Amino acid sequence: MARILILLAVVLGVFWWLRARAEARLAEHRARQAREASEHAAAGTPDVAAERMVQCAQCGVHLPQGDAIAWRGLHYCRRSHLPDESRTDGSNGSGDGSSGPRP
Ligand SMILES: [Zn+2]
Repeated sequence: MARILILLAVVLGVFWWLRARAEARLAEHRARQAREASEHAAAGTPDVAAERMVQCAQCGVHLPQGDAIAWRGLHYCRRSHLPDESRTDGSNGSGDGSSGPRP
């Protein structure tokens, strides 16, 4: 009977030790995440994961807005997906206010 109690105590001890270790790791992970988030906020750099996603008007693929080509209120993933009229536009500024196709 005493053996069973000792075994039970050992199992409980190991269980408690593993749980304490997991909690310590979780706390460390959360602290690191909070520190990185505050560094992002302090540096003023936008979080990459928070960047707005847009859809290509030609093929429908989703991509970050920073990588997309904006033209007349629509977004495109590459220059070849821009409509034909965008390439035949005059090069001396159409002046529609949008950022237009990149060179
Ligand atoms: Zn596309």
